[in-house]
Amino acid sequence: MLQVNLERIKSDILTLAEIGRNKEDRGIYRMAFTDADIEAKRWLSDRIVAADLEHAVDGAVNVSGVLEGSTDQPRVMVGSHIDTVPCAGALDGTLGVVVGLECLRRLKEEGRQLKRTLELIAFSDEEGRFGGMFGSQSLCGHINPERLATMKDLDGVLLQDELRRHDYDPMAALDAARDPESIASYLELHIEQGPVLDRVHKSLGIVDEITGLFSWSVWLRGEANHAGTTPMEMRNDAFMGLADFAHEVPRILEENGSQRSRATIGKAQILPGAANTVPGLVEFSLDVRDTSEVILDDLSSAFRKALSAIARRRNLMFEFEQKSYLAPVGCSEVVVHELMEQANKLGIDFLAMPSGAAHDAQIMGRMVPVGMVFVPSKNGQSHSPAEWTAWADIGAGANVMLNTLIGLADDL
Ligand SMILES: [Zn+2]
Repeated sequence: MLQVNLERIKSDILTLAEIGRNKEDRGIYRMAFTDADIEAKRWLSDRIVAADLEHAVDGAVNVSGVLEGSTDQPRVMVGSHIDTVPCAGALDGTLGVVVGLECLRRLKEEGRQLKRTLELIAFSDEEGRFGGMFGSQSLCGHINPERLATMKDLDGVLLQDELRRHDYDPMAALDAARDPESIASYLELHIEQGPVLDRVHKSLGIVDEITGLFSWSVWLRGEANHAGTTPMEMRNDAFMGLADFAHEVPRILEENGSQRSRATIGKAQILPGAANTVPGLVEFSLDVRDTSEVILDDLSSAFRKALSAIARRRNLMFEFEQKSYLAPVGCSEVVVHELMEQANKLGIDFLAMPSGAAHDAQIMGRMVPVGMVFVPSKNGQSHSPAEWTAWADIGAGANVMLNTLIGLADDL
């Protein structure tokens, strides 16, 4: 079986890690459309040209490398992203892009022409400087002129200004949309960003489902009063409502959720926020995830019921607003089967697992068949300079990707 050149992957990862590196905290700052991100896109373009692959950049500044197939059948795509969060590590999506590049490069130098065209793609702004998944959403046609004109980062910098600063036409992102019929499947390798593979000592995770999520802002409104003069039984203490609710979360997951359900209260504010005042208002976030849409619906009504009951009992008013909703996406059975078969042939022990984080594959999965592969994150760490994966595990994942791409592109 054809194998990747791991030394080349190493050297690409280490070279890219120097683009946007901060000397003091050793973190990588390659947020979307910063100078460092554009430099990394240029670097990638150069590598694509040097490998004698066709090079293309679309209207959303997604960078592609193409290995033409012998037929005009729908293409197989492979990729991820090279933008980072602030103070990032060297791998995250970058690993998926470098591995994809190596797969195409390896085939090119072997002189292998497959039946389907293979395309490597590095998507723009996956990490969310301007909201996240900008590149994959553009490719799937989810972007409109109003969003393009108003998207901004946390400092108020408009995406369109940032694109113009680098001589890109912001409205061109509308032309990045592809015909779903032109794509047979999309494959993404990513670090797990969780502790599971590291704990069970497996080199590879084959994702079967990508989790969906809803997130709410919740308000429990009581009455702010003096902490000394208001007797305990005469209080409408908003924080006590939140405390009751937090205790009910495990029960709700047990009764209405699955093994794959997660619920998190990650942010809370008590108002007016004085030590000697009974809290009159709590505002908190609720992030709920599962791989089944039906279970997400059940959880949503169970959480609503629990909050209403607590509000009644504690004499509080309950309100909530849904801030975001992402439907779960099942990975393609054909792609999952091919990944497992290649892993077995290569003698690589894998774990079938869900993806708990959102990736470009989740956006792509609504339009075309997708597959995802995870490699272990040491101690589950990611989005920090401590992020790491053993080279041997990277090699294992890359070889499974290479042979799966061959399998998918030569299946006619
Ligand atoms: Zn990522």
